[in-house]
Amino acid sequence: MQRISHWVNNKVVVGTSGRTGKVFNPATGEQQAEVDLASVAEVDAVIAKSKAAFPEWRATGMSRRAEIMFRTRELLDANRKELATYLTLEHGKVPSDALGEIARGIENIEFACGIPALMKGGYSEQASGGVDVYSIRQPLGVVAGITPFNFPAMVPMWMFANAIMCGNTFILKPSEKDPSASMFIADLLRQAGLPDGVFNVVHGDKEAVDRLLVHPDIQSVSFVGSTPIAKYVYETGTKNGKRVQALGGAKNHMLVLPDADLDMAADAAVSAAYGSAGERCMAISVVLAVDTIADALIEKLKTRVPNIKVGPGTDPSAEMGPLISREHRDKVASYINNAAGEGATVVINGTDKAKDAGFFLNPSLIDNVKPGMKCYDEEIFGPVLTVMRVKSYAEGLKTINDNQFGNGTAIFTRDGGVARQFQYDVQVGMVGINVPIPVPVSYYSFGGWKASLFGDQHMYGPEGINFFTRGKVVTSRWPDPRTSAVDLGFPTNR
Ligand code: NAD
Repeated sequence: MQRISHWVNNKVVVGTSGRTGKVFNPATGEQQAEVDLASVAEVDAVIAKSKAAFPEWRATGMSRRAEIMFRTRELLDANRKELATYLTLEHGKVPSDALGEIARGIENIEFACGIPALMKGGYSEQASGGVDVYSIRQPLGVVAGITPFNFPAMVPMWMFANAIMCGNTFILKPSEKDPSASMFIADLLRQAGLPDGVFNVVHGDKEAVDRLLVHPDIQSVSFVGSTPIAKYVYETGTKNGKRVQALGGAKNHMLVLPDADLDMAADAAVSAAYGSAGERCMAISVVLAVDTIADALIEKLKTRVPNIKVGPGTDPSAEMGPLISREHRDKVASYINNAAGEGATVVINGTDKAKDAGFFLNPSLIDNVKPGMKCYDEEIFGPVLTVMRVKSYAEGLKTINDNQFGNGTAIFTRDGGVARQFQYDVQVGMVGINVPIPVPVSYYSFGGWKASLFGDQHMYGPEGINFFTRGKVVTSRWPDPRTSAVDLGFPTNR
């Protein structure tokens, strides 16, 4: 059985805790590897190495740091396909989806290559007579990133690219369900010339996470995962004096107005709901259809959904792969099987004819969904598109704003005025106008509102640079013997 171990000081370090986790191939349902799960002592040892590497890395010039990131970008570009095979093998996503994830991750590497410009401060000459004032940004020290199973390459890149370019040393605790991508990326960073200890990977579960959250040498924690764990990470990390950004779950609504191009809306809803088997935090999970077009839209969805080719990522014709685990597949199936009893209409039931081997589930479509039903109130995170019928734009907007989550949303309309009003009123962090998955480009920042984000700094982009640095303002005067005098008054600028 293949064993996946930690990555410390640019080398594989075999775990000593005696605890391992199982890594499955979701397309076959078989275990294909075991991953070391770190003990408290092993986490402490990684933190010590990261701390030791910090002073020299911080002192390394920004041009040199950027040079390493440019090389990392070239290596990632040259190895896209190989990295994608790890995603398909352990996560189950089909190659086109895996390559898309890698492409969006690389955008974050490209952004971080501009670090010399991003770290620029401000300078005010002659704030007072002979006094200049300037602002600088400095790295925090050892920072940690804890990532979910659904983007094993991209989400780590959201975090570590900016973190290390700002001069921090970074510890990644990837999902124990698909840990190989992080090891492959770690080796590319080594090949790019990243010094020992600047990027370390510690595999683990709650024990490792809990240690990172309380260890005094960890300065900040970036987390992406489900809402209950995000809340826990935020509360525990901040209680222990750390800066924390914790991104949680989602329930993304797409509001379709009567003037929308219904074919375009149906194509977008199907792509955004079932891509990656719905295991995306920006997946569309609820279509809000205004009554007058609801039947027509459902008909268009009904004709598209059965055409989705479900299969393993090794089949070039497959468009949608399996779910991550048997337990998760069964949980998603339970939402579908309970929906009719709650009063919803199951138009297409994906639990019918689902393959026995592997963690597959076919796409499901559920109509007449309402708040109060489990399939509406909870994040499903699977290939299930629900439809709620609303009387008007106002009812659709209220439904979105009343929802506990606020990650992404979309409006489909030809009316620019209504779209602008929607962008103004909606209580959601990322908004698409005729765009179903509005993941911001890397030079903006990613983050939701409400139960989708704990903390006040969004991930990557300019807010990522703020998150991974501390500001300092220097007020400076060079001694001039001609103006020197004792003055006990409070210093003023005039
Ligand atoms: P998860 O919360 O189960 O796990 C995320 C990380 O937390 C993993 O590294 C895991 O090892 C760790 N963890 C799990 N349980 C823990 C515990 N009890 N204590 C401490 N650490 C623990 O999430 P997941 O199932 O890997 O990922 C799917 C979830 O992530 C979905 O809810 C999805 O919406 C969310 N997600 C959100 C975003 C976003 O940007 N908002 C992006 C991707 C995924």
